[in-house]
Amino acid sequence: MNACVDLLSQLIAVPSITPEDADCQAILIERLQRLGFAITPLPAEPVSNFWALRTGAGGPVLAFAGHTDVVPSGPAEQWRHPPFTATIDQDYLFGRGAADMKGGLAAMVVACERFIAQYPEHHGGIGFIITSGEEGDDYQQGTPVIMQHLADSGQAIDWCIVGEPSSTQRVGDVIKIGRRGSLSARLTIHGKQGHVAYPHLADNPIHRAAPFLTELVAIEWDKGNQYFPPTTLQISNIHAGTGAGNVIPGDLLIQFNLRYASVSHYRDLQQTIERLLQRHRLDYTIDWTLSGEPFLTEPGQLIEAASGAIDQVTGQQAELSTSGGTSDGRFIAPYGIPVIELGLCNGTIHQIDECVKVTDLAELAEIYRQILERLLLN
Ligand SMILES: [Zn+2]
Repeated sequence: MNACVDLLSQLIAVPSITPEDADCQAILIERLQRLGFAITPLPAEPVSNFWALRTGAGGPVLAFAGHTDVVPSGPAEQWRHPPFTATIDQDYLFGRGAADMKGGLAAMVVACERFIAQYPEHHGGIGFIITSGEEGDDYQQGTPVIMQHLADSGQAIDWCIVGEPSSTQRVGDVIKIGRRGSLSARLTIHGKQGHVAYPHLADNPIHRAAPFLTELVAIEWDKGNQYFPPTTLQISNIHAGTGAGNVIPGDLLIQFNLRYASVSHYRDLQQTIERLLQRHRLDYTIDWTLSGEPFLTEPGQLIEAASGAIDQVTGQQAELSTSGGTSDGRFIAPYGIPVIELGLCNGTIHQIDECVKVTDLAELAEIYRQILERLLLN
């Protein structure tokens, strides 16, 4: 059996539903130890994490990053094949985590096995940043814990590849070189509840908020740049009213989110919105949540190595993109480490019948192996 399929099948057989690792990482650790990696377990309840390092003859360190946890399967009977048993049907391997991202993990390990067998005296080091806390609410106990450990122990990483499914049609067609920032707000506009027939005794927060909202959604935040589309704001929830038709509500709750480009800073976005609230003389409370600052990896050795390897293996020019949601790259990039996301196709991730093309797995392992050659042999 093909090496990636074999390892991926073992990983899928462990139902590591976030944040539970269920000993999925033990499978990776065993393989990495055989290659001479030193393993540092870094558990942070309820998440399992580890850092693995194989140092070569000095020089730069390339780290692979990824997660062993998966999202729940949903109703198993709706799957064409059981979600926690890898099944090959036609050219595809089915199973929860096949694409997001146990397939990526399998490709990384197989790439290292082949690279080290070929160049046991390679230059530089290879690292693994692995967590079981990426998919759920426990992400602070995941990759950030490993990064903090590396900072505390003075271990430097020169480049990082996050093996998230970045590709769309064919493996390697897209490399994510950055991500937009995500800033959310829970805004309450306060008024005074009353009878609709006696509006002079009440204060309607919906009426007060309406002109503010009209202005808010019309703001042009920035124009983006070469790598980022312009910043956008979307209102996701709006609620007021008791349900009764004759009551002016006391409060209006509005939730919105900004996906922002690296040309804007979240403090400036917050300030613009708070100034607008004040200009409209609104009585309000606002709670902000910053779930990730934007990052961008500028063209350099890492992107060059990845693009070159993709071209050589698949014959295509990878698109450099910053689209999509957040990933754990947001916890790695702030340490000044060039980070890219490069992995399998994302068309079925988190879905019933998640699957990966078997030939994509082999191609991804070969792309990773060639990136190791390009970065660690000179
Ligand atoms: Zn993922």
